[in-house]
Amino acid sequence: MWELYHGRFERSLPAMRRTLIDDHPAGWSTINRADWHQKPGFVAEQPCGTCGSAFVKHLEWPPGAGPGQGVPATGRNALGHAYERDQRPQRPQCLCHGDRHEEDRKPIVCKASRCDGSTCDPGFIMWVYGLEDDGLRILSCARFAEPPGYETKSLAIVNYRTGALEQLPRAWYRHRDVGLYPWKGAEPDWKILNRWAP
Ligand SMILES: [Zn+2]
Ligand SMILES: [Zn+2]
Ligand SMILES: [Zn+2]
Repeated sequence: MWELYHGRFERSLPAMRRTLIDDHPAGWSTINRADWHQKPGFVAEQPCGTCGSAFVKHLEWPPGAGPGQGVPATGRNALGHAYERDQRPQRPQCLCHGDRHEEDRKPIVCKASRCDGSTCDPGFIMWVYGLEDDGLRILSCARFAEPPGYETKSLAIVNYRTGALEQLPRAWYRHRDVGLYPWKGAEPDWKILNRWAP
């Protein structure tokens, strides 16, 4: 968000909100390392870095067979080289354009510093970024103390008695306010921020 504000959106919050929220109301699959010169849209089949084709096109099939017919591929390269995913930045992947056409999503509402976890799924949404007028608001997911007999491992817990990995009840989580980082101020120290991770 910080890079997008200062780079792609040239410090224009209205432009940033319009693109990230209004123009793509189904939300985003990922915008990490995205190339914003490309039109946003979901890519179901990641292209090969050598030829641009999908993975499945690189497989050779026995005569009369093809993908999805329960017949194994021959193991030879149909295009003369092995598929290797294109590592260059891809287009921003939203859920409403390209290969996905999902409905508009209702905004998720978090009560921020008064978060009680009832409307914002803090056990699943680990980081929240708010595009506030004055700066970037960051919330992280926090955990209540777990009852005795359990050890927390990320978002799952190990039950000592049974050895089973169990999903941590969502009610044990809430968001906490990490801070407001003024757009005009110094870039947040992401290493320090990471200590707020659950
Ligand atoms: Zn290829
Ligand atoms: Zn979209
Ligand atoms: Zn929340």
